[in-house]
Amino acid sequence: MTKIKYQPVIGLEIHVELNTKAKMFCHCLASHFQAKPNQNVCPVCLGLPGAMPYPNKLALYKTLVIARLLNCQINPASSFERKHYFYPDLPKGYQLTQYIKPLGYNGYLQIEDIKYPIRRVHQEEDTAKLKHQIVNGQKLSLVDFNRSGVPLVEIVTEPAFSSARQAVVFLKTLQKLLRFHQVSDCDMEKGSMRLEANVSVKKASDAKLPDYKVELKNINSFKFTAEAIDYEIKRQIKLLEKSKAIPQQTRGYDPKLKRTFPQRQKEEAHDYKYLLEPDIPPIHLPKSWLEETKNLTPANQLLQEWINKGWPESVVKILFTHFDHLSWWRKLEEQIIKKQIDRKKLGHFLLKNKSRYYLKPASQLVQDFLAGQHVVDDSKLLTQTIDQIIKDNPQAVEDFLAGKQQALYFLLGRLRYKIGNVDAPKVIKMIKDRLTKLKTSSNSLT
Ligand SMILES: [Zn+2]
Repeated sequence: MTKIKYQPVIGLEIHVELNTKAKMFCHCLASHFQAKPNQNVCPVCLGLPGAMPYPNKLALYKTLVIARLLNCQINPASSFERKHYFYPDLPKGYQLTQYIKPLGYNGYLQIEDIKYPIRRVHQEEDTAKLKHQIVNGQKLSLVDFNRSGVPLVEIVTEPAFSSARQAVVFLKTLQKLLRFHQVSDCDMEKGSMRLEANVSVKKASDAKLPDYKVELKNINSFKFTAEAIDYEIKRQIKLLEKSKAIPQQTRGYDPKLKRTFPQRQKEEAHDYKYLLEPDIPPIHLPKSWLEETKNLTPANQLLQEWINKGWPESVVKILFTHFDHLSWWRKLEEQIIKKQIDRKKLGHFLLKNKSRYYLKPASQLVQDFLAGQHVVDDSKLLTQTIDQIIKDNPQAVEDFLAGKQQALYFLLGRLRYKIGNVDAPKVIKMIKDRLTKLKTSSNSLT
């Protein structure tokens, strides 16, 4: 009997917190990392009765940017709905989300030759955070509402991945893209990027998708995502081989045991009873926004553009991972044009000193680069300085006279330290001539 071949079917749901200053529906600060519990709260994000939400424009703009970057169709007119469920992290009893008309839909993210389809990109609000701890010997769950109402974007892919590796390459590319365009920090440790993978397995010969999916939740690194998906695929194939049905389920991942475990049975979509939010009028994206975001260039295209402009390819590929903010590169490019800087030389200079300029303004890099490019060519100053360093470094002089050519480079270094950048071959020759002269005169004395 031939063995049945199975094929994994994987879809991804990614939540990213937008890096706006304010929350989604109120003026509270959105930054919740390292804030004191319940520091940034108001009646809106606490869900008090009668509080009126008002959408954050910048958050909607950034969501539009994400939808554009993922090549989505755009719904210029949309709305917010209430997604009902009961959980202590949700004081209103519902979460505001875009269910009926997501801001973006039917998009894709291209990685090399593959276009991974994106089902939807929509705006929603984050929930509060639960902290389980022991207070006065009692096990308690405490609620911190700082995160409640932080602007969140959900990106849902089609079940288009067939391996953990493929899914992780997609996630890493997405993270880079969103960071590059400064819409989200996408920091998994801080929870500003959260991943869920829907995994099922079908017979390779089946055209239809499986009628169940297992949702892997609360995984906080790419490595664990890959491990959890791999484990889940193996677990499901084993069950299928025994002709057992696989229940629709939410599972977590235990990185120590390297296995997934059941959390709860998954709610069906209709359990949420979506209702139109009556306190927020319909959303109409301004025409100017739609125009502005029309031709956003994804990071990989930008990379090519920079290479075409004359940046060395090897340099740009390394630097893009280090200096991954679009505005940083734009500012640098402005200076390059204004000051007519050679991109090749600047690129190599930056590569050599990349840790020095990390998180520093592009203007500082340009300033230092230009200072380093300036070549001191004053013959009188050079002669005087050479005499001085010869006097100050008798050991190096002795080494040279003993035949050690390396001493010349030591002296060149001393000279550069004193007066800055010089034409090295020319100055080496000058030092050599001076030392040879010294040698001749000392020989003639003996
Ligand atoms: Zn608030």
